[in-house]
Amino acid sequence: MTARIIDGKAFAATLRGRVAEGVAAFREETGRAPGLAVVLVGADPASDVYVRWKGKATLAAGMVGTEHRLLAETTQEALLALVAELNADAAVDGILVQLPLPGHIDSAAVIAAIDPDKDVDGFHVVNAGRLAVGADGYVPCTPLGCALLLEDVLGDLSGLDAVVIGRSNIVGKPMAQLLIDRNCTVTIAHSRTRDLAAVVRRADIVVAAVGRPEMIRGDWLKPGATVIDVGINRVEDAAGRRLVGDVAYDEALAVAGAITPVPGGVGPMTIAVLLRNTLVAAHARAGLAKPA
Ligand code: NDP
Repeated sequence: MTARIIDGKAFAATLRGRVAEGVAAFREETGRAPGLAVVLVGADPASDVYVRWKGKATLAAGMVGTEHRLLAETTQEALLALVAELNADAAVDGILVQLPLPGHIDSAAVIAAIDPDKDVDGFHVVNAGRLAVGADGYVPCTPLGCALLLEDVLGDLSGLDAVVIGRSNIVGKPMAQLLIDRNCTVTIAHSRTRDLAAVVRRADIVVAAVGRPEMIRGDWLKPGATVIDVGINRVEDAAGRRLVGDVAYDEALAVAGAITPVPGGVGPMTIAVLLRNTLVAAHARAGLAKPA
C-alpha cells in the first residue's frame, strides 16, 4: 500500500481562487480592496522569502499589500509606533508582524499591540481566547490550513484519535483546539512525552509540528493513518541541500493512508489561509456578513 499524497499546493490554489472571487465582490460592494500590511524587522533569509511570497500572493488575490521593512536595530518603540499607525489606518484590514523578531524586541508586547480585529495571524491573546472558548475570531493560519486539509481528506473527523506533536502557541496548541472542535480525541505530545512512538501508534491522525528533521519514523505510525507534516527543516547531506519535514517521508509512504509532502503540503495552505483571514477581516470591518 502506498499512501495518498495530499496535494496542499493544489488545495491552496483553489482556496486562493475563492478568495480572489471574494475580493472582487468586496471591491464591487465597497469600492476598495482589502489591505494586508506585512512588517519585517531585520534580514533573516527565511523570513525574507516568506514575506516576499505573502506579498506576491496578496497582490495576485487582488488585495492591496504593503510591506514595511525595518532595520534589525529598530527599537521596540519604533516598531510599536508603526503597529499603532497600521491599527489606525482605515485602508489596512490585516496586520502581520513576521516572526521571529530580533532578540532585543519583546515579541509578545508587539503582538499584544496589534488590534485583535486586524490580527490575521491569530496570535493575539484575544484571538487565542476566542478559539479556546469557541467564539468567532482569527485562527492561526498554519493549523487552520491543516484542519482544512484533514477535512478534505477524511470528511467528518468525529471520534478519530488525533496526536499533535508540538505545543507551540502558533501551531500545536491551536491545532489541538481545532481538532477538539471537530470532535477528535486529542493527545498533545511534546519534548517530555514518554514513549512518543507508542503515543503516535494509536493515532488515526498525526500532526507533526516539532522542527526536527524526519524524527517521526514510518514504523511509529498506525497503518492507514493520515499524516500532516508541518515541519520545515533545511538539511544538507549527500543528496544535497533540501527541505524535509518532521516525518520520515519515504518510510511513512509505505504505512500511512495519506500524507502531506514537504514542500508542497502544509506550507502553501498557510498563505492561502492568511489571505482568507484578511478577506474575513475586511468584511467584518466594513460591516458585511462573513464571506462564504
Ligand atoms: P516550536 O519550536 O515553537 O515548537 C516545537 C515543539 O516541538 C515544542 O512544543 C517542543 O516541545 C516539541 N518538541 C521538540 N523536540 C521534541 C521531541 N524530541 N519530541 C517531541 N516533541 C518535541 O516550533 P513551531 O511550532 O513554531 O514549529 C514547528 C515546525 O513547524 C518547525 O519545523 C517550523 O519550521 C514549522 N512551521 C511550518 C509552518 C508552515 O507554514 N508549514 C508554519 C510554522 C511553523 P516543548 O514544548 O516541550 O519544548
